[in-house]
Amino acid sequence: MLKKGYKLYSILFGKCPRCHQENMYEVKNLYKLKTTLKLNNNCSSCNLKYHLEPSFFTGSMYVSYPIGIAFTVPPFIISHVLCKASLLTTFFAITATLIISLPIIARLSRNLWINFFVNYDKDAVEKNKNKLS
Ligand SMILES: [Zn+2]
Repeated sequence: MLKKGYKLYSILFGKCPRCHQENMYEVKNLYKLKTTLKLNNNCSSCNLKYHLEPSFFTGSMYVSYPIGIAFTVPPFIISHVLCKASLLTTFFAITATLIISLPIIARLSRNLWINFFVNYDKDAVEKNKNKLS
């Protein structure tokens, strides 16, 4: 499931959704906050344009909500259920977790969003080479 050809590979590692060869992001380190969401314009292997239409990634906000909820479950269980912490302490644990994982959530939601619309094509790189020559 975590190899080329599966959508999960592209979603988790930020690879081009069509060829799974290149990183979609200019900078791989997602905690460089100035460049966390900066995408390359095109894939250098298959020439997929990442911004499929203007404001394309605005729709990823819909996806980031359930991903954010999923990120709040573990701190809730650990602090409130296992450690019997108060609701206020649990709230701070959840808030801290969300702040720390914000770049991860933002990238995951973008990766998931573009993978809704673009499918893997194992011949995409060859098709692009043929088109160029
Ligand atoms: Zn590509």
